[in-house]
Formats: sequence, structure tokens, C-alpha cells
Amino acid sequence: MEHAGIEKLRQEFKQQSGISLEVSDEIMLEIAFDSRFAKYLENAQKNKELVGLLIKNKEKEIQARNQAPLSNSDVILKVSKAIARWTKSGMKTVEPHILEKRLNACQKCPHLSAAPDEKLIYKLAKAVLLDDKTCRVSGCMVIHKAKLTVENCPLPIPGEPSISRWGEPIRVAAKSLQ
Ligand code: SF4
Repeated sequence: MEHAGIEKLRQEFKQQSGISLEVSDEIMLEIAFDSRFAKYLENAQKNKELVGLLIKNKEKEIQARNQAPLSNSDVILKVSKAIARWTKSGMKTVEPHILEKRLNACQKCPHLSAAPDEKLIYKLAKAVLLDDKTCRVSGCMVIHKAKLTVENCPLPIPGEPSISRWGEPIRVAAKSLQ
């Protein structure tokens, strides 16, 4: 799933920057997690040559930093660690099949809305996490909310007050929201 996130990030970057240069996984991670580098790219968006130069320089910097290029498993590990840093320490995340079930429910929900337009860097960073939609009821980005075991959809299924729209037992406090 993390690697699919990098692919989505790569495609979004190509669309936004308009450059045809092949961008490596390592560069995608630098764009997502190095705000200064991302800012340089954002500022250079309309100058394709400059964008290409910035990327080539960054590749040289990465090569100098790492004696050997990152393997796919290294890249996935790096993304996993980055995502883990975005969640609070000690917060457990759900199994992938639970996450998929929750997100599928949100995708069909009328209370899901797109996040407001933001700068390129935020769009790119969020592309790593695969989505940028928010729940109008809770105000949370569903991709973050759905990952955490302690979270639940705040609304019950119509006619089923004890089951949330994620198909999970609902907390008593949330029942009044139906
Ligand atoms: S968390 Fe619940 S209410 Fe919010 S978008 Fe998802 S399914 Fe809808």
C-alpha cells in the first residue's frame, strides 16, 4: 500500500509540475518529507529546466548521502516510519483489511467531502497517504481517522443505532447523532 502511495505521489507530481523527467522513489520521499526541497520545487514550478536541475542535484545529494541506492524494501520501510511519525506515539493502527473496509464505507458516505484547496506540498504529502477527504461530521481526514484502532465513525447505520457506518459497535455517546 505504501508503494502505491508513492506511485500516486509520482503521478500527481508529474501533473502538477508538468515535467516528464522520471522521478525516483527517493526523490518522491524527499518531496513529501523535506519541506525546504518541496518549497524550492513549488517556487520553480513554471520553470521546467530549473525543476529538472533541482531534482538532479537532489539525486546527487541522495547518492552522496547513501553509499548505495535504497532498495524497494528500504523505501517502503522509510515510508512506514514517516507515516508512523505522523501518528501519536502509542497509537495503534488497524489491520489493512479493516482500513479498507472503513475507507470503502466513507467513500459511499454523503458526509465525505474534499479538503479545501491547499499548496502543492500539502497535496503531495497527502498523496503519500492516498487520500485527502474529510468527514464533515467529525472534521477529520478520514485516512488518518480510519487508521487508528481507537477511532470509530461517529454516525450509526440508519435503523441500526448500535452499529457505526464502518460496521463496528458504536460508542454510546455517538448514538444521539443519528
Ligand atoms: S467517518 Fe462516518 S460519517 Fe464520516 S465520512 Fe466516514 S462513514 Fe461518513
